[in-house]
Amino acid sequence: MTTKTYSETWDLEVFFQGGSNSKEFYTYLSEIQTELDQFEQQIQQFSTDSLEDVLASYESVVKKVVQASAFISCLLAQDVKDKSASQLQGKVAQLHAKLQVQLGALDEKLVGIDEVSWSKLIQKDVFQPLEYVLNERRRRAGDKLPAAQEKLITSLAVDGYHAWGKLYNSIVGTIKIPVEENGEVKELSVGQAQNRFSNGDREVRKKVSAAWKKAWEGQAETIGAALNHLGGFRLQVYEQRGWDSVLKEPLENNRMKQETLDMMWQVITDHKGTLKKYLERKAELLGLEKLNMYDVSAPLSAEETILSYQEGAEFIIEQFSKFGPELTEFTKQSFEDRWIEAEDRAGKRPGGFCTSFPVSGQSRIFMTYSGTLSNVSTLAHELGHAFHQHAMHGVPTLNRFYASNVAETASTFAEMIVADAAVKYAKDEQEKISLLEDKIQRSVAFYMNIHARFLFETRFYDERKNGLVSVERLNELMVEAQKEAYCDALGEYDTTFWASKMHFFITQVPFYNFPYTFGYLFSLGIYTQALEEGTNYEEKYIALLKDTASMTVEDLAMKHLGVDLTQRDFWEKAVKKSLEDVEEFLQLTKNS
Ligand SMILES: [Zn+2]
Repeated sequence: MTTKTYSETWDLEVFFQGGSNSKEFYTYLSEIQTELDQFEQQIQQFSTDSLEDVLASYESVVKKVVQASAFISCLLAQDVKDKSASQLQGKVAQLHAKLQVQLGALDEKLVGIDEVSWSKLIQKDVFQPLEYVLNERRRRAGDKLPAAQEKLITSLAVDGYHAWGKLYNSIVGTIKIPVEENGEVKELSVGQAQNRFSNGDREVRKKVSAAWKKAWEGQAETIGAALNHLGGFRLQVYEQRGWDSVLKEPLENNRMKQETLDMMWQVITDHKGTLKKYLERKAELLGLEKLNMYDVSAPLSAEETILSYQEGAEFIIEQFSKFGPELTEFTKQSFEDRWIEAEDRAGKRPGGFCTSFPVSGQSRIFMTYSGTLSNVSTLAHELGHAFHQHAMHGVPTLNRFYASNVAETASTFAEMIVADAAVKYAKDEQEKISLLEDKIQRSVAFYMNIHARFLFETRFYDERKNGLVSVERLNELMVEAQKEAYCDALGEYDTTFWASKMHFFITQVPFYNFPYTFGYLFSLGIYTQALEEGTNYEEKYIALLKDTASMTVEDLAMKHLGVDLTQRDFWEKAVKKSLEDVEEFLQLTKNS
């Protein structure tokens, strides 16, 4: 195989020349401004006859706003100290906010069209491909209070609802976790302390865990108040709108039914026994009676295989080629055309992401590659995201905004291909065990940790309806939820998890938990089908990806996979697939 040497830095010049001082980009922003002004006028003069033009303008301007945001996130990620980029970020945020206001105004117009005229209108050929998303916009707006009242809520939410979330973030920013290391006391940030939980030395984990608990307890009253008021605001708004379930909004956002959600958790719960065995075995391997919460992600071995960037890239391409030619070609092209920023250097943002430039029909991937197999997985994961965007090429922009629960379909799928191959090609048994464990840890996270979050959040909102929930009670609810989700397999639980987990405080996304478990299993289910059907599956897969943002998940699964998500079968297969790793792990670690 003759392969080029891949560059570890990306090409942003192809979009706008000159980085954060790009003149081209400045001009672009003022073009967007002009388009937004025109869009506003169009909405003011809206009539059913102008809907086609309005949607064409929306399509054009939203693409450009996304393109601009993508450029800024790339600039800021590659150099966190880029001051000009931060300034530009503020400008782009303003444009974004303006677009949102205008979309609100458009929704108002859509709700204003009477039922008969609407059903006639939507039957027109031009609107047919957009039927689902347009009906959805109209229905969601109709479910809310009259526009004037919603506007009032939105403006009060800035210093009410969202402010509680912001307050939480600023508290977290000040939290220091004092831990003694090498004879001196170090003040760790929350993120630094978190990393210590995967430290191989139990004494370190134990010490950090105690300091961690103390730090969160010190802020528990304030954080508890923030959670109560944020939750109270949310419930009050729902009540005014006449919404009786706290799950209505997150389910709507994820285009899924309550029955689907219930069935998913049911099947997971039915199979937890196997995961429990894993936790018990891990305790044994670590020489413990039972694991404590802080032991769950402890490493079993220290040795790690290192692959150069080139080797990592070639490994990914080779594994993808066993799945399908389109994914393979796309991936090669991404490496060759410098769509990826992977260089290991200072001044970069931590973490990884994939962002799309819809005007150019390209994506960019960001990460820091240091050669671990987990880096290779991350790279495959982000390439999966980019492939999802690629698959959606040619789909109308309005049909490209997929929800959180399907957003990880292609990324998890790609990661799975590579993670499975890595296990297969492990150099020895020890490496095989640790790679399997890495996969099992995902199941533990999605089936146990996230389940605990879901149980806690549901119960918290139930109690909040009747008044404020005290810190003592929050602690109790948290431990109860963890015990249930982890099948009582742990010795010590994380009492203040409700305070340390920022997901409970994200006001933009209520119930920031179950969509991720859904996404993982949905992808696993597709992966299982792909393995069963062998080659030629790729075409089916791409067709599914194209439809991810223009129908409910139940319809998506029925149309492309031929399965009913409200029934057991699909979930059963997906969960079992992931538990095969546990079986293998138990087998390999039997005599150690
Ligand atoms: Zn992802």
